Amino acid sequence: MKIIQCYTEMKDLSEIKEVEKIKMLCKHTYADTLIELNKIDDIINIEHDIIVTQKDLDELANCKHDLCVFNYYLYPFSTGWKEPVLAHRCKVESNNFTFIDANYDEEYVDLAGFGAIKFKKGMLNKLHFTEEEREWIAFDSVVSQKFHEIGISFHLHKKILKHTHTGGYPCK
Ligand SMILES: [Zn+2]
Repeated sequence: MKIIQCYTEMKDLSEIKEVEKIKMLCKHTYADTLIELNKIDDIINIEHDIIVTQKDLDELANCKHDLCVFNYYLYPFSTGWKEPVLAHRCKVESNNFTFIDANYDEEYVDLAGFGAIKFKKGMLNKLHFTEEEREWIAFDSVVSQKFHEIGISFHLHKKILKHTHTGGYPCK
């Protein structure tokens, strides 16, 4: 199991010593890092502004599922919505996806945010990406959509992790 945190600026990164910090050099470094590491190991990716504990990491590492995510909020500055929403979405009808709410009691979500995510070895390597799809800005959406297309969903861990990138909104 490899636990990584990608960053462009060295601030507020995890103090857990097993978390390896990887500096992003260009718009493809994020995707390429995840794809290459997943060829050889299980990986847990923790985004640079998500707060995790060792217990959270152990919970993901010990879960039997192939793809696992924790809950966390996205804030209005990034979504354009009035209120914070949880980062994951589920399919409601035909091809509409809606953000899950705090009462969501299903075990899986269809599209996931990558704030805290585990990929069992080889999972990302089931997918193929163009150069444009490997740009960091939309990589989580692209990966989610591609897994959805082949019938693979994300196991949801219900704890809501603290996301410090709030755009000035009080952190939930
Ligand atoms: Zn799980």
